[in-house]
Amino acid sequence: MTGPDALLDEIGARTGALVDLTRQLVAIPTLNPPGANYRDICLFLQKRLERSGYICSLLRAHGAPGDSDRHPRWNLVARREGARPGPCVHFNSHIDVVTVGQDWTRDPFGGDVVNGRIFGRGTCDMKGGLATSIIAAEAFADLVPDFSGAIEISATADEETGGYGGVAYLAENGWFNPDRVQHVIIPEPLNKDRICLGHRGVWWAEIETRGRIAHGSMPFLGDCAVRHMGAVLSAFERELFPALAAKSTTMPVVPPAARQSCLNVNALHGGEPEQDDDFSGFPAACVPDRCRMVVDRRFLFEESIADVKSEVTEILDRLQENRPGFRYAIRDLFEVLPVMADRDSPVAASVARSIHQVLGRDPEFVVSPGTYDQKHIDRIGRMKNCIAYGPGILDLAHQPDEWIGIDDMVDSARVMALALLSLLAGPRT
Ligand SMILES: [Zn+2]
Repeated sequence: MTGPDALLDEIGARTGALVDLTRQLVAIPTLNPPGANYRDICLFLQKRLERSGYICSLLRAHGAPGDSDRHPRWNLVARREGARPGPCVHFNSHIDVVTVGQDWTRDPFGGDVVNGRIFGRGTCDMKGGLATSIIAAEAFADLVPDFSGAIEISATADEETGGYGGVAYLAENGWFNPDRVQHVIIPEPLNKDRICLGHRGVWWAEIETRGRIAHGSMPFLGDCAVRHMGAVLSAFERELFPALAAKSTTMPVVPPAARQSCLNVNALHGGEPEQDDDFSGFPAACVPDRCRMVVDRRFLFEESIADVKSEVTEILDRLQENRPGFRYAIRDLFEVLPVMADRDSPVAASVARSIHQVLGRDPEFVVSPGTYDQKHIDRIGRMKNCIAYGPGILDLAHQPDEWIGIDDMVDSARVMALALLSLLAGPRT
């Protein structure tokens, strides 16, 4: 049977293939929004993986948010069976990338290779991770063709916009059912020596304050919704923000500053709509009768979603009692509960051992401040044995001149291949 050293050497010998594959993936601009070129990248991967012995299923998330004939939400699930029955290890990567933005000094889809780094939108988040898992799985299956169980690689849509046309769709349709998938690794860029166990919770809501429109020269005849929102904000400053900052968690969230609760005011708008830049007129004199604020609240394992919501509504209710004319409405936009795998779960323990073998040190176990597709695998798929592990420096995600280090990808591919060896090539039964 092939030992770990042969596998490590084999991965090293495939460095060129790993770089080529990453560059080929980056060259397909899968920008989201709007969700462009998903079919192209799935077909490219299908061709590649079928050559390596995978059976591929191309799946469109019909009716998912954002799915349209112009921008269909395509996903790929590829499965390679081993020689004997056994568990299935699934690598899940998202294929979408965020908008390019300003201040690039390189072609965002060029995949320039300079000083051991590959540059481009999505190199780090997370086409480099996708390529790494493919090379690791191919090298493993070539060297250990009699492995037991199965390997799956999925390439999914829309992670950057909630994952509803991607992993959520697959989970709803049984692809992450624990009867068919036993271990899940998501190669998000958490750094090659860290294992991400999960993420904090999130609640998005829209708060609206209501007033009455009147002529702006006689505001006393109306009721200003923006001033009511000002009262909400100052109550938040006085009561809510200090209370959130005082809550801490045992979750190992990185960066450490994110080990407390927080709330971001995502958007605020009241009164007349903003005009286009080429509008040269003046505003009309009106008292605003509506003001809306979108809030993005991140919460901890120790908090319940009910408490998270009532903390906000109690402040609003108190204003309604005490502030003349104050009326409000609140609308839930989105909520995700915190998720955290056990660090002794089989997949986490196996990857931890492999990190030690490759890098000569123990991994750091972390939790992500923001959510990613693990939420759907956990909540819909009921799969707890799931972690994020992949190459790349998280801080570079979504930045101009995004890059990934080639050495980091090679090391991560070695870790993934050794994890496959321990999970799928154990003692024969
Ligand atoms: Zn990502």
